[in-house]
Amino acid sequence: MGKIIYADNAATTALDIDAFEAMKPFLIQCYGNASQPYSIGMEARKAIKESRQIIADCIGSSPEEIFFTSCGTESDNWVIKQSVENGKQIAVSMIEHHAILNACSSIEKHGIKVSYIPVNNYGIVLSENLKESLINATSLVSIMLANNEIGTIQDIEELAAVAHQHNALFHTDAVQALGHIKVDVKKSNVDYLSASAHKFNGPKGIGFLYVKKGVPLKPFIDGGSQEYGMRAGTENVASIVGMAVALRNNIVQLESNAKHIQELENRLITQLRELGLDFIRNGSNNHIPGNVSLSFRDSDGERILHRLDLKGICISTGSACDSVNAQLSHVVKAIGVNDKYAKGTIRISLGKNNTIEDVDQISSELARILRK
Ligand code: PLP
Repeated sequence: MGKIIYADNAATTALDIDAFEAMKPFLIQCYGNASQPYSIGMEARKAIKESRQIIADCIGSSPEEIFFTSCGTESDNWVIKQSVENGKQIAVSMIEHHAILNACSSIEKHGIKVSYIPVNNYGIVLSENLKESLINATSLVSIMLANNEIGTIQDIEELAAVAHQHNALFHTDAVQALGHIKVDVKKSNVDYLSASAHKFNGPKGIGFLYVKKGVPLKPFIDGGSQEYGMRAGTENVASIVGMAVALRNNIVQLESNAKHIQELENRLITQLRELGLDFIRNGSNNHIPGNVSLSFRDSDGERILHRLDLKGICISTGSACDSVNAQLSHVVKAIGVNDKYAKGTIRISLGKNNTIEDVDQISSELARILRK
């Protein structure tokens, strides 16, 4: 494999080297089942306990409020599918990830009514739009903290307050946000929060759900007593440890990473403008650092992706899950990108490992492709 310029950090990130080192003992020597009373089981149990505490400290919760899951998708499904049992209506934004939207389609088949809250052209959910979507029977509102395709950050604190005024609980999918912007569950007063390790330089196949103490939670996987009997299955100890180390490292470096990534992002946009390319930048000014969604006039995002790939540059056309689906993404539709530009939408997501040279290469290759 030649040199790769990886600019798809919203799809997944490289594993943090400290996280990798911390995981190794739990794969090789200390592989005991954390439920067993002998020493390597106890070691595993201790590591899970410490990791739960590290994660709790990173989001301002207590450890008992953290439930390990296999990924962000599972955390989202857990919250949304609880509604089937209480039979009440829920409300979600139109630009949620498919982990939420497809879970909603699933509960709709069980007769649960879902209302879809529109966003403005920047991808922002306005409080008044949320209020209009709420009816007395709405039991849950789910609005993502940051969008995966355009990076827009929502005012979660305000939206959670609106939901609470209407006696609805509030869930946020923080999969794109955690490790990249400050997240404080107490300050934002959310009831549930989903996260996924591989988006913040942790391993794939591990995530967690934060559930505020006292808020209803139904068991999601029946079996053993793991995760307080709520999510059974032998714990993925190495990945839990790796997730905690990666999150802690990203949070320690949060400001310096954001500054570096923002500089790269500014350089990219300035260069593309100076090159005279005709494009729209999607999303809001308040966005996840490095998430750059661009729509090029009279272009084809798929074509751009494949041409860049030939040059060893990895980007995306929208969300990772959408790349196989050539249709316009639901987010591009929801923010009303002009028809002349919509099909030419790509997402470049820069991360902490990207360099000035990467950005220079991306803009010069883009210019070469788009001028042909
Ligand atoms: N939610 C958002 C906003 C995402 O961006 C993603 C992944 O792209 C997910 C959920 C799903 O996370 P996971 O890949 O851990 O299942």
